[in-house]
Amino acid sequence: MKQLERLLASDPDRNPAHTLNTDPKICVRCGKPVTVHATEYEVFEKMHWLCFHLEFEHEGDPDAACSDPSCPWWQLQVLQRQITALGHDPKKVIEQAIKERWKL
Ligand SMILES: [Zn+2]
Ligand SMILES: [Zn+2]
Repeated sequence: MKQLERLLASDPDRNPAHTLNTDPKICVRCGKPVTVHATEYEVFEKMHWLCFHLEFEHEGDPDAACSDPSCPWWQLQVLQRQITALGHDPKKVIEQAIKERWKL
């Protein structure tokens, strides 16, 4: 459903303000351009989604998982657990991906 809302929001016929507004959307937290979630710029208080998460939702060390279900660190832990349960070593999976990406 969220996906559909995003698609509709990015449709210029349904959202003419989107095409009229050519100002670059800049994150008020980190100062970098917001592109991936540009249509939700106002929803995320003029921030990147990740900056919004770290500012308002994330508790404790930003390098550690928090208790919010949308936390990327927590979701990575879930995926790592599942990969391990399937008999793979998450570290080896990443090492292999690095080799493939940089042709090592
Ligand atoms: Zn940001
Ligand atoms: Zn978090």
